[in-house]
Amino acid sequence: MRDISGTTTNKELRALALKCLGNRCAVPECTWFHPDAFDIDHIVPLGTGRNRNSSRFVYLTILKMTNPRQEYQILCTNHHRLKTVLDMEEYWENKNSLRQLDTQGV
Ligand SMILES: [Zn+2]
Repeated sequence: MRDISGTTTNKELRALALKCLGNRCAVPECTWFHPDAFDIDHIVPLGTGRNRNSSRFVYLTILKMTNPRQEYQILCTNHHRLKTVLDMEEYWENKNSLRQLDTQGV
């Protein structure tokens, strides 16, 4: 277990969490390397309607995990946005019948 007792600020925790996750976007061809452009992504989407955890809670969770890369990954904001769009498309496909009803007569 990592010693994080002396670490107090969110910025420091974020830097440590990013380091644990490899300090780069999970998309291999990505050319964004600036840490301020990184988001921490829950690999399996949490979906809508569920309370999101605070950033600090996520950082601490990652730092306590033995193998955080099984659950979390870094995505730059662009790739995070694209993943979110794809996840939402999947979400809507599952609700396809409802969506078709909604668009009838438009
Ligand atoms: Zn990226």
